[in-house]
Amino acid sequence: MSRLAESRRRLNELLKGYYAELARSGRERTRKVAWCTSAGPAELLEAMGFATYFPENHGALLGARRQATGLIGQANARGYSPDICSYLTADIGAHLRGETPLKEAYGIEAPPRPDVLVYNTSQCREVQDWFSFYGREFGVPVLGIHSPWKAGEVGSECVMDVAQQLQRMSDALVPIAGMKLDRDRLKDVVRTSAETAALWKRFLQCGRARPSPITFFDATIHMAPVVVMRGTRAARNYYRGLVEETEALVRAKTPAVEGERLRFYWDGMPNWGKLRFFSELFTRLKACAVSSTYCLSWVFDELDPEKPFRSMAEANLKVFINRSEDYKERYLADAVKEYSIDAILFHEAKTCPYNTNSRFGLPQRLAEGHGIRSTTLYGDLCDLRCFSEDQTETAIEALAEQLLAGSGRG
Ligand code: SF4
Repeated sequence: MSRLAESRRRLNELLKGYYAELARSGRERTRKVAWCTSAGPAELLEAMGFATYFPENHGALLGARRQATGLIGQANARGYSPDICSYLTADIGAHLRGETPLKEAYGIEAPPRPDVLVYNTSQCREVQDWFSFYGREFGVPVLGIHSPWKAGEVGSECVMDVAQQLQRMSDALVPIAGMKLDRDRLKDVVRTSAETAALWKRFLQCGRARPSPITFFDATIHMAPVVVMRGTRAARNYYRGLVEETEALVRAKTPAVEGERLRFYWDGMPNWGKLRFFSELFTRLKACAVSSTYCLSWVFDELDPEKPFRSMAEANLKVFINRSEDYKERYLADAVKEYSIDAILFHEAKTCPYNTNSRFGLPQRLAEGHGIRSTTLYGDLCDLRCFSEDQTETAIEALAEQLLAGSGRG
């Protein structure tokens, strides 16, 4: 049986149920539907009874199924530049053409029609324009949290600002939800969300083992519930099982990559349409991508049910993507030690400058200040026209050769 097979089976069931419920909410109007950014405020929406849909997840699915590149032109024709987020352009292109991978994957015809769109700019500015497009398309309200950006230390004034915005948003959601926010319900959701995030962290930390029983590619598959079902008991229970199954692999010293001899850290967005390419290349090189900033971004240590608004604000402001260059340097240097990393792979995603960390000298500072090796890979999250397999293979093979020559592990 392949690694994590039982969790894969449970994951499929869980996601089928999630999408079936979303489709039912949209079709039968059993619950109000909110579209939300991946950074949240998912807990608030869950507490107010919304069925919540995540367009970024749809963008990733379009990328993973290699449908995105052919759809981006539709959005370009409506004036959305080929240089902006390819989740956005692929997703809007899919909407304009009436296509969705959700049909084949989960049997639902289309994303559910929103009653409200809710975003948080802590990840990037594109989400505001993305959601505003749908606000105009569907004629529904668009509500936003505008987060201070690129924080080094996250001070109490910033946290209070965002916490107050969240409170105002909960008031604005009342007439749409048709109910007031129940504070006890919010505490309960935040508690469940915190437990879910803690289990997700524990799963990712299994990558510290030598050999690692998991890869970055495993994590991109198993992260779906912590993104789209945060705050639900079903997601929390799923991660309990995943952690149990993965920790058994750690104890049995089961490697994700047979003969693991190199350990990589992936920084930046996944290249969704090329995950298999990278996975096969790494397996051939006996290299394991054991950790990533991307998957660690859904670890929310700050969530605290006793301070729901404040802690949601803090968790959101402290996401890696929203931090200063100095913070990122310290974070990556610590991650390299924690996960026994040989080199960092910086993914320079053409259409996501926000989650690309190789453009302002960070790889050089990590090399000079911490002796950390790295290489930069050029590509994109969804737009396959920005990616060359040959160039990427050459860059990774050269890095692997240098690392092995330097370590005597060849
Ligand atoms: S962070 Fe990057 S990938 Fe995510 S929505 Fe913003 S631009 Fe797109």
